[in-house]
Amino acid sequence: MEEGLSCCFCNKIDDEGIILLNQYICRSCELEITHAGSNELRYEIIKKNLKSIWKGALFPSH
Ligand SMILES: [Zn+2]
Repeated sequence: MEEGLSCCFCNKIDDEGIILLNQYICRSCELEITHAGSNELRYEIIKKNLKSIWKGALFPSH
């Protein structure tokens, strides 16, 4: 059994979210992303966060 993972956006521990590129995204952040299209500012924030996730996944730096 998984204990629950820490969300990469809000650091909330929860086990109902998704894992995207080895980064855990909690249920509420997942929903925010899903609905982000209607909120440009939120979208920008999320996009920035996702960008760093992609970057970290594609080009792991040390
Ligand atoms: Zn979250």
